[in-house]
Amino acid sequence: MSINVSVVIPLYNEDESLRELDQWIKKVMTENQFTYEVIYVNDGSNDKSWQVIEALSEENNAAKGICFSRNYGKSAALFAGFEMAEGDVVITMDADLQDSPEEIPELHSMIVNDRYDLISGWKKKRYDPISKTLPSKLFNGVASWLSGIKLHDFNCGLKAYRKEVVKSIEVYGEMHRYIPILAKEAGFVNIGEKVVRHQARKYGVTKFGLNRFINGFLDLLSIHFMTKFGKKPMHFFGALGSLMFFVGVLSALWVGGVKLWYVFQGVQAERVTESPYFYLSLVSMVLGTQLFLTGFIGELVSRSSSERNVYKISKVIKHR
Ligand code: UDP
Ligand code: MG
Repeated sequence: MSINVSVVIPLYNEDESLRELDQWIKKVMTENQFTYEVIYVNDGSNDKSWQVIEALSEENNAAKGICFSRNYGKSAALFAGFEMAEGDVVITMDADLQDSPEEIPELHSMIVNDRYDLISGWKKKRYDPISKTLPSKLFNGVASWLSGIKLHDFNCGLKAYRKEVVKSIEVYGEMHRYIPILAKEAGFVNIGEKVVRHQARKYGVTKFGLNRFINGFLDLLSIHFMTKFGKKPMHFFGALGSLMFFVGVLSALWVGGVKLWYVFQGVQAERVTESPYFYLSLVSMVLGTQLFLTGFIGELVSRSSSERNVYKISKVIKHR
């Protein structure tokens, strides 16, 4: 029997909310006559989360579990859940009851009927402290501008995917914030947004501190760089390096030219080391060479990668 919906739930120390969440999901699924599975990914919790999941799986056939032996992070948990998911539509949601399972039917229909590849939730009205909402606004603005994906809330835990999408992307590190970008990179451009209800955290505490913004920003830069130049680092470093080197050569010529001109005039010339162009030329040439070499090394690294010729092919026509 095919499964309509897989719900993937990464969790770290959320034992208080799991039972309530499971019942809520079950209620929504039965009301809408979906065949479903819920995959609880226990990300190395040190409370009773896993015991609760075990108990749930005995009562409810749809409840499945994955238990990490230590805390690897939300991205890793999502990845493991995605590997296991069998449903036609895969929904991710947080375990803390901040996301509402009531959204599932609508999300499912947007994927199945409106042919979206990915729908990202948008917590338009958020129940979080301002220390979180304000930086997050800035953040989403930059992410949306850099990636060209028009979303208001990249990091929303509540998302829906067509099955092929989760099977084609690799969420690692802390990249769970940028899954829409990963999906776009994998060729799934039909990305939409749905305003979702959001609740204040009922039990437990948030698992991400303020350093989420620093790390998140660095990740955004690396993902942007990787998508643009990951397969051709020389195009970035080589261009920049050559440009700098060229500037260096120009200033060296200027310094040398001026000196020669004075000498021919028979005038007492200033020492070359007194000209600012001398230092400009020195620094530019050294930096230019280094950038160029960085590009070259990057190129060597990417060429020797075993994935250099791995492509996601969706269709092929062949004649015998
Ligand atoms: N989470 C996880 N591993 C971690 C940190 C968080 O699986 O290392 C889970 C957490 O249990 C929750 C979801 O990721 O289900 C979102 O975390 P949280 O609610 O703390 O984030 P916030 O809502 O504050 O952004
Ligand atoms: Mg939360």
